[in-house]
Amino acid sequence: MRFDVLTIFPEIINAYISVSIMKRAIDRGLVDVHVHNIRDYTTDKHRQVDDYPYGGGSGMVFKAEPIFRAVESIEADGIKRLKLLTSPGGRVFTQDVAREYAKSHRAILIICGRYEGVDERVKSIIDEEISIGDYVLTGGELASLVIIDAVSRLIPGVLGDEASTEEESFSDGLLEYPQYTRPREFRGMRVPEVLLSGNHQMVRRWRRKEALRRTLKQRPDLIEKIELTEEDRRLIKEIKEEEQWM
Ligand code: SAM
Repeated sequence: MRFDVLTIFPEIINAYISVSIMKRAIDRGLVDVHVHNIRDYTTDKHRQVDDYPYGGGSGMVFKAEPIFRAVESIEADGIKRLKLLTSPGGRVFTQDVAREYAKSHRAILIICGRYEGVDERVKSIIDEEISIGDYVLTGGELASLVIIDAVSRLIPGVLGDEASTEEESFSDGLLEYPQYTRPREFRGMRVPEVLLSGNHQMVRRWRRKEALRRTLKQRPDLIEKIELTEEDRRLIKEIKEEEQWM
């Protein structure tokens, strides 16, 4: 997967992708991240990327011209890219969207806005506005890193162990079951016996039940969207008998 990020703060993107799993994925050639400084596409001597809003009002607006020039220059290589504009008003980015991007695209271009937002005319050259949640950030860099990270870990080979993404939260519509590592007992808190039993069938059932319990408690909206199996219904009945909050 190739990413092209357009930003006036390349150092934010470069810092994140130069460590951990992102760095390994790039070193192994599974992910390619190209960071472009939008200021390099200005034509005035002050390299200005913002200007006053027409109609008045507070703050500045990201100019359309340097963004157009940057996108046109990047696209001159003929690679077909999904073009995204980060925006709090866009479609909300979820694990399903990450899966859709990872599956259907080989290259993604992400524009990081700043100031009070970008000139509306930039929307004429993008495919989609994308938001990482209902809050307002100072710029699109964090949003683009969220997208790059979530999509990259779905690229085969990036995590090394494919099962890691298969069992994660949201992969089957539920939150992930609780995880434990050594020691068996820590400050009086014991690891559930079933996990020490070596009985794979019991461990599988316990994990499914705890994933259901956690989702029912923390994100009941997710349960309504999945197709429950007979076993799930039985487990939910058990959970309801055990829990007072239900
Ligand atoms: N005035 C704009 C509004 O009310 O919608 C907010 C602009 S925000 C301060 C500056 C930039 O940060 C945006 O252009 C966008 O690129 C990015 N941004 C802010 N919040 C975001 C979010 N929730 N998701 C994605 N990008 C966001």
